[in-house]
Amino acid sequence: MSGPTLRNIGILAHVDAGKTTLTERLLHASGALRIPGSVDAGTACTDDLEVERRRGISVRAALASFEWRGHRFNLVDTPGHGDFAGEVERTLSVLDGAVLVVSAAEGVQAQTEVLWEALAALGLPTLFFLNKVDRVGADLPGVLGQIRRLLTPRAVPLQTLAGAGTDRLLLRDLSDPGDPEAAAGLFEALADLDEDLMEAYLEGRTLPPEELLRRAEPHARRGHLFPLLFGAALDGLGVEPLLDGLVRFLPPAGGDPEAPTSARAFKVVHDPALGRGVYVRVHRGTLRTRDALPLPGREEPGKVTRIRRAGAGRWEDVPALEAGDLGLVFGLGEARAGDALGDPEGLPGGVPLAEPLFSVRAVPPTPEDAPRLLAALRVLSDEDPHLGLVLDRERQEMHLRILGPLQVEILTALLSDRFGLAATFEKPATLYKETLQEAAEGYVEYTLPKPCWAVLRFLVEPGERGSGVVYRSRVSTDDVKLKYQREVERTLPAALEQGLLGWEVTDLRITLLEGEDHEVHSRPTDFAIATPMGIFDALQKGGTRLLEPVLRFALAAPEEAAGAVLGDLLRMRGTFDAPRVEEGVFRVEGTLPAEPCGDYAVRLGSLTGGRGRFSTRFAGYRDCPEEIRAEAPRRSVSPLDRARYILAARGAL
Ligand code: GDP
Repeated sequence: MSGPTLRNIGILAHVDAGKTTLTERLLHASGALRIPGSVDAGTACTDDLEVERRRGISVRAALASFEWRGHRFNLVDTPGHGDFAGEVERTLSVLDGAVLVVSAAEGVQAQTEVLWEALAALGLPTLFFLNKVDRVGADLPGVLGQIRRLLTPRAVPLQTLAGAGTDRLLLRDLSDPGDPEAAAGLFEALADLDEDLMEAYLEGRTLPPEELLRRAEPHARRGHLFPLLFGAALDGLGVEPLLDGLVRFLPPAGGDPEAPTSARAFKVVHDPALGRGVYVRVHRGTLRTRDALPLPGREEPGKVTRIRRAGAGRWEDVPALEAGDLGLVFGLGEARAGDALGDPEGLPGGVPLAEPLFSVRAVPPTPEDAPRLLAALRVLSDEDPHLGLVLDRERQEMHLRILGPLQVEILTALLSDRFGLAATFEKPATLYKETLQEAAEGYVEYTLPKPCWAVLRFLVEPGERGSGVVYRSRVSTDDVKLKYQREVERTLPAALEQGLLGWEVTDLRITLLEGEDHEVHSRPTDFAIATPMGIFDALQKGGTRLLEPVLRFALAAPEEAAGAVLGDLLRMRGTFDAPRVEEGVFRVEGTLPAEPCGDYAVRLGSLTGGRGRFSTRFAGYRDCPEEIRAEAPRRSVSPLDRARYILAARGAL
């Protein structure tokens, strides 16, 4: 028998599948909560925001902890809505495993597919929990078929259930005697993964269910096989077997507590009493109070002043957090969500972050409230770096970047609940990007007005969609010293923040072909000032074109609505694969340009009497049709306006 272990787990589900109810049940069953909260009564303790209560959705990750048979679990509540995709991804990256809840009555929904894709992309070990088996209309074989078809053929039930959709439910383990056929599905799935078993399977031998379960463990813990369990969270049915399943089929958190400390920040909060706190996962080493922790991009390390951990049912102060554990850390200064803390070596690969596609202007209730609003927005964008607060000083405007329309609603509620500010938001606008049309050279000779000396020649070429900006230098450090070349590279992101049309410039290959510094007159800032002029020279010669954000969508609706829906999709400039129809349900997948106000889910709902499902996921930027024109106002002087630009850059304007 191995000793007590720790697992960081998340529960994911489509809205209404029963995530909150199940969470409360898990905490309750393990003794961490005395009375299970009820979503319907508004007392669930993991929904920590007033706005969540009002909407009945979970939008912020909250941490709870419980023990089961001596093993400890950190339960991270993941937001379920696509508008918070960045937070979903950041949260998933700290987990050891997940439970994906699917309602046995409603089945796999488009949002379930999106969540599954995120789990699969990270290769996260996952258990399926088929909830609401008590509901009239619960269709176990049907939903299992959907899961296998739409999500993964490697989902395998580890139980049998009789009486689905009635109040005479009988849930049995595979190892319960009485149904020798039940383990056949597991045997078949294992045969695919295990040579030895394949032989036995083909020979028609049978193996005891307990042995099959034992052999399933390592495959499940590696995320190659996905155990499926049944239950009705509302009545607590299937909750204990699920808890046992978590211990058995999800891998424990690992990491050497003696190694140099590596941790990742995954969420920032502002506690009214304790100040700015950072949720972290320690991947290696041990994080202790009074530790000084290197922060990315900052000279000053963060000094840990206090560490809180989610204990069973309440928070507790601890002197240290060991590898594998999650906690809330105070004293880390400006650390932001997503930051690598300490030694970056010990961290698993980077987290792909969703991109905000829209920009929205925040308006204070009165002009006098502007400074307070700015301060509040600074706090919020600190908690969620995606918000990328931009202050347009010339027009005295505050803009935020958002992932979708629901986020505006959440921000409005947050500003009012936490800061007592009745701010409003203007209609969100699409954030376009731009890219180069044709390869061109850009040249800059910045030698006047003295004293300054920087000469650069760039080759700028269009890159593939989604390739971002790739830079390299072919200039020897004899011609341009390394410290100056570093300055060129460091300046590029800022130089590309706004192109000829005012949008971020992307998908470029930039090569520094030639350059010259001056023994006496050059300073690093000369190269920082020259770089945008050289790049803009190339942009102007090659021309730029607009790129628009596109979404990958999945849509399901009753067959009768197919004609109207396909018409809508074409009108919205959608492209899609051949639709599929099965059992009266019509499904189609494809891409759509992201429209800030196009909440198509609402229209689909009215078109299908609420039975349609629509979900989207960011899929990158693609060329915009010629007829669409959009420009964004410049926030700083254009490098093409050479004289004014130089004055502004030297701080003389
Ligand atoms: P969430 O949106 O995924 O967090 O789902 P909730 O936990 O809020 O549950 C949505 C609704 O389904 C609530 O009204 C629950 O009472 C109900 N519900 C949850 N689990 C079950 C179940 O096992 N059986 C039945 N019949 N209803 C359930």
